[in-house]
Amino acid sequence: MAISSRVRDVAAVDPEVARILEAEEERQRTTLALIASENYASVAVRQAMSSVLTNKYSEGYPGKRYYQGNRFADEIEALCIARAKELFGCEHANVQPHAGSPANMAAYLALLEPGSTILGMDLAQGGHLTHGSPVNFSGRLFRFVHYGVRRDTERIDYDEVRAIAQREQPRLIVAGATAYPRLIDFAAFRSIADEVGALLMVDMAHIAGLVAGGVHPSPVPYADVVTFTTHKTLRGPRGAMILCKAQYASAIDKAVFPGLQGGPFDHAIAAKAVALREALDPAFRTYQQQVVRNAQALGDALARRGLRLVSGGTDNHLLLVDLTPLGVTGAEAATRAEAAGLVTNKNMIPFDTRKPTQTSGLRLGTPAMTTRGLGEAEMEQVAELLVSAITRPDPDNLARCRAEVRALCERFPLERGAIVVVDEER
Ligand SMILES: *Cc1c(COP(=O)(O)O)cnc(C)c1O
Repeated sequence: MAISSRVRDVAAVDPEVARILEAEEERQRTTLALIASENYASVAVRQAMSSVLTNKYSEGYPGKRYYQGNRFADEIEALCIARAKELFGCEHANVQPHAGSPANMAAYLALLEPGSTILGMDLAQGGHLTHGSPVNFSGRLFRFVHYGVRRDTERIDYDEVRAIAQREQPRLIVAGATAYPRLIDFAAFRSIADEVGALLMVDMAHIAGLVAGGVHPSPVPYADVVTFTTHKTLRGPRGAMILCKAQYASAIDKAVFPGLQGGPFDHAIAAKAVALREALDPAFRTYQQQVVRNAQALGDALARRGLRLVSGGTDNHLLLVDLTPLGVTGAEAATRAEAAGLVTNKNMIPFDTRKPTQTSGLRLGTPAMTTRGLGEAEMEQVAELLVSAITRPDPDNLARCRAEVRALCERFPLERGAIVVVDEER
């Protein structure tokens, strides 16, 4: 038998899994992702992700591996590190973290002893689980204290952050959020950290792409350590990285391996390198500018339809919408929106009176839609469809909205975003 006839794709080997994968592709094709943490990775990123590097074990770091056969694993990781340093202008980069949560765990373990005090943003007001939630490793291993946003402005109150820091004397301050629509003032965090003798870590998971594209100030000059995911606005594979000042390089590397992880995912590192190559291209800056313009256009269109935007608007890629004026919970709104083909997530708003399973808010983001090519004109249409589906969830209206979303998806197919053209002159 010829070798080629024994080479089988997923459909031939495992029709059950193939059917699910095809259905998911169809779902992505025919719905719009408004989830602020999602994006559509390019074909190039996905090809690297499915490459033969998944077969390799390469515990250690380039030039210092525990197994043989790592010539190309070394090459790909060194290339990825060099690109991360070029893109973000940092002194050191570790590209091995499997995801954002382990990147944060590695950073904490590199800088602190368990039980140390850390000041981070409250989960209920925009922070992340790994910023000290009691159900997360972070809240179990460290003594977290929290800052939030001001009730009147719904923005971080740096005087409050300073007051809490002076009272609690944290060893580490964590800046960064998962549901905060405004710019974060990293210089202010740095000066507060210096005043109380704390280290500063910035978790830029949500905004790494914006930082790379120059539409959000970079935390790199201010933070001792910066962590981020590669699959959100950065539009790479699922994964994460840690950037740091040279003085923490060895502690960070040891905390990732052997401290927390075993062998790196070399295929994911290859895909991260491709994503960084795309992000170094001038077109990526244009993309990120459009992401922010689309978020502002979507916010304006929703506000004109009577929705209240937390903090009054957005500076970045996401919006937090208060549904209270509509008399609908976040859970209800997210279900209705999905019936119309608009995929969102319910989210707590600051000082929310509802439970996390209900919520008063909806979190919306534009990175994925912008990758498909939707622009400000389409944001107006998306806002109309979203509000219509949420406020008039009768079957006829939901079917009308669903049909319009399908038509939008056909006009802006996944392929349009999946093929990223980079300037070969680089
Ligand atoms: C998404 C996110 C993470 C965690 O990333 P995972 O890859 O889901 O583990 C950490 N911090 C922030 C601020 C995030 O938004």
